[in-house]
Amino acid sequence: MTDRAAAADPARLLREVFGFAAFRPGQEEIVRAVIAGRDTLAIMPTGGGKSLCFQLPALCRPGLTVVVSPLIALMRDQVRGLQAAGVAAAALTSANTEAETAQAMEALGSRRLRLLYVAPERLASGGTERLLRQAGTTLIAVDEAHCVSQWGHDFRPDYLRIGALRAALGVPLAAFTATADAETRAEIVARLFPDAPPETFLRGFDRPNIHLAFAAKDNPRRQILALADRRRGRSGIVYCATRAKTETLATALAAEGHAGVAYHAGMEPDERRRVETRFQAEDGIIVVATVAFGMGIDKPDVRWVAHADLPKSIEAYWQEVGRAGRDGAAAEAITLFGPDDIRLRRTQIDESPAPPERKAADHGRLNALLGLAEATGCRRQVLLGYFGEEAEPCGTCDICDRPAVVFDATEAVRKALSAVLRTGESFGVGHLIDILTGQATDKVRARGHDRLPTFAVGADLPKSVWAGVFRQMMGRDLIRPDPERQGGLRMTEAARPILRGEATITLRRDGLAAPARPEARALVAEDDAPLLAALKARRRAIADAQGVPAYIIFTDRTLIEMAERRPRTLDEMAQITGVGAKKLESFGAAFLQVVTGATAEPVHPVRMRLAGRGEGALYDRLAGIARDLARGDDGTGKPLDLGARVIARIIEARPATPEALGRIAGMDAARLERFGAEILRALAEDDA
Ligand code: ADP
Ligand code: ZN
Repeated sequence: MTDRAAAADPARLLREVFGFAAFRPGQEEIVRAVIAGRDTLAIMPTGGGKSLCFQLPALCRPGLTVVVSPLIALMRDQVRGLQAAGVAAAALTSANTEAETAQAMEALGSRRLRLLYVAPERLASGGTERLLRQAGTTLIAVDEAHCVSQWGHDFRPDYLRIGALRAALGVPLAAFTATADAETRAEIVARLFPDAPPETFLRGFDRPNIHLAFAAKDNPRRQILALADRRRGRSGIVYCATRAKTETLATALAAEGHAGVAYHAGMEPDERRRVETRFQAEDGIIVVATVAFGMGIDKPDVRWVAHADLPKSIEAYWQEVGRAGRDGAAAEAITLFGPDDIRLRRTQIDESPAPPERKAADHGRLNALLGLAEATGCRRQVLLGYFGEEAEPCGTCDICDRPAVVFDATEAVRKALSAVLRTGESFGVGHLIDILTGQATDKVRARGHDRLPTFAVGADLPKSVWAGVFRQMMGRDLIRPDPERQGGLRMTEAARPILRGEATITLRRDGLAAPARPEARALVAEDDAPLLAALKARRRAIADAQGVPAYIIFTDRTLIEMAERRPRTLDEMAQITGVGAKKLESFGAAFLQVVTGATAEPVHPVRMRLAGRGEGALYDRLAGIARDLARGDDGTGKPLDLGARVIARIIEARPATPEALGRIAGMDAARLERFGAEILRALAEDDA
């Protein structure tokens, strides 16, 4: 294998530079298409590993890859991560210091950079196009491509300039987004690929490391506090529907000794940036936020995302949940919901200024989410089914953990519908349940509802079960709050067949009032926990010393694997996911020391680098040959040695003949004669 071919092999760079053993689902096809220079649009879920799909091709292709990305914090983070992995990358943003810009310009001028991140505002300045052309740009990558969509809430006018830039440079373009809906996709294609549609990749929606759970809301404040309590030291995000709630929940968390902070769009930009920065850098922080907290968030070690209120669609749910567990280690998503959430979301849709078709579509989207919330089988199957993917029961959702207990609820639903209709479709759940269970409250008596034939017909079921029945009926869109009657429940057409006895319905009986399963899922077995803690402490110390977030050193996923596999040598360390050659060189010994409890023997840096490429063993073999034959076959010859660098050159060139071996710098005739045959044999065996 020649040096050049080696440099362009994506699988090899995946291992050497990023330290990943394999592609994630979907990545490889995208990487191949981008390397081949085809226009591409890739839609992958948040945390699915989009960045790799342009970073890796950038290293495999000649020339410079320009990355347009909407958020400065995110760009700086990626640049830092790339630099830590030994990749020449820089950013041009308004947050640069003069020195940073000068350095980036210098690297651009000498064509040393592989990736340049550019803020969209930069595209507006006339010089940018010339600059990028002169720097030898061969590929444009657009992150968060849905920012070209005028209708989305992430719209960035400067993104509209990308089309012109690409036309001017005449290079291929690769666009990435997590936004799946067809309208946004069509708009991305129209704006970024006006001439010919790109090769589109839509898949890999699963995030198998995220455990999914839904729970009926009873006392959300207490429920969230309990969740946080069992997850001390693990970073999390709690999404709320209102700004006020983010503040009260954050205060409540702080009062319990958690690092809880609020975040919403009503805060000053400076204040928001401070929260973002803190979140990015701190371990064990909990941000309580509205959906405004999102796009800039790229923290790989978020261990849990909770929804204190129901999100507005499956897309929104999945995007928000996707912020957990980007590093691939176990993470959790817990969503609380109740009838009030459903009412709130329905009302928001009804009261929006959107045209009727849009409202109907939004109700449909909400229904899909409610179907997920009220699922009676594996949640992941329901979720992936929505995105058009088939799946087996997952084993990592609350329903796979504990199958739902269902019952034939046809009778109960008919009684409930009858109560709804006989009271003129004007009342809410509480009153209807009072009627069904025969509670002659003042309100019931005042309205004469104790004389209805439906009064007390449901006394056989406890109130909690009726609450679940009503919530599920709302979830299945059999009844809807009527905006014209203060949210009184109205029957929908979907309920008619059940009322008429033409259809039956099965509902969940369990979990109707079950609290969120509060135990946290353990990250590692009990035996490995102390080592994991020690590894995290070492990571924190190094991160603090370098002034970077902990995950820039290694992600949780990597530390967990170290704690479980307990590498004893640098070669074994190099096999751990996330340990690339550069990081092995920078941090390998420090972490090995934690695992083995002893200071590792000093290792020649050349040897260290080869270990990162899986060639440590070959190095040892050749060094062994040099040692054994230092005084010749019979141990009486003139001493000859072979330096580490000569060995490294041999491993890189992999000569197959004595002539080729003799051409390597440092292999003079005497050494060739003494070591040549053994070295060639070792190389041949290693290749086999
Ligand atoms: P997003 O799609 O949201 O942009 P990222 O690109 O940030 O996701 O990737 C999420 C995480 O997954 C990162 O920590 C990244 O290092 C990790 N990752 C990406 N590809 C792989 C892979 N093939 N193997 C292991 N981890 C990966
Ligand atoms: Zn499941």
